[in-house]
Amino acid sequence: MRCGKKAFLLICNCFGKAGLERIDKMNKKFVLDVHTHTAASGHAYSTLDENVRYAADIGLSLLGISDHAPKMPGSTHMLHFMNFRVIPRHMHGIDIIMGAELNIIDSNGKTDLKNNTVKKLDYAVASLHVPCIEPMDRDESTSAIIGAIKNPYINIIGHPCDPRYPLDIKAVVSAARDNNTLLEINNASLDPLNGRAGGDSELLELICECKRQAVPIILGSDAHFYTSIGDFSNIMPLLEEAQMPDELIINTDVEAFRAFIALKSRV
Ligand SMILES: [Zn+2]
Ligand SMILES: [Zn+2]
Repeated sequence: MRCGKKAFLLICNCFGKAGLERIDKMNKKFVLDVHTHTAASGHAYSTLDENVRYAADIGLSLLGISDHAPKMPGSTHMLHFMNFRVIPRHMHGIDIIMGAELNIIDSNGKTDLKNNTVKKLDYAVASLHVPCIEPMDRDESTSAIIGAIKNPYINIIGHPCDPRYPLDIKAVVSAARDNNTLLEINNASLDPLNGRAGGDSELLELICECKRQAVPIILGSDAHFYTSIGDFSNIMPLLEEAQMPDELIINTDVEAFRAFIALKSRV
């Protein structure tokens, strides 16, 4: 599927020299990645400090930490998400934001952390995960995602277009537009070995619909080890196929990202 003719341009203006030498997989125009995990998630293996140092090394300007919320087996306790004030928001030369990847736990979009906790995070991602909710049909999955989109404290829908949770893409994009919620294009989902594999054509359809409705998307590495941070390489063919304009990819601009996040309530 093609949905535009504009040439896809690679702009290389965001990296320090050290980053340029060390980077191989990351597209240099993307300056932020806010879907990353630390060992606190249970099935991820790097420390927060390792993540930040690597993000700085590859030239990111902003790193977000989004460990799995408590209903994910092996993840951390709710208290983990209530003590983020102890973490500096600028380390090793880059900005840090502390959030969570919430688990959507019903077809209304309810999540496993109460909004009283979520609203105190710097940002929140919400996702459907098989260990936390059974696969659903198109109507139920769409209802769950739209319910999360409408949550005033959820900023990003993580890895939509998982074949186990099929979506009414047009309805989801319209809801995202109306509620200032970002839809993520997830690099890990495009790995053939990932449990969510097989949704490539739906992801392309989602990107094209976002382009049609002028809704920004966000790219996420979903790194569970520090060397995957900032890796959007699996996504690039879809962006090229869709001829997605840079201005609709929020990873190109930290200030635009921060402004977008601020459209939703935080305290
Ligand atoms: Zn995970
Ligand atoms: Zn996830």
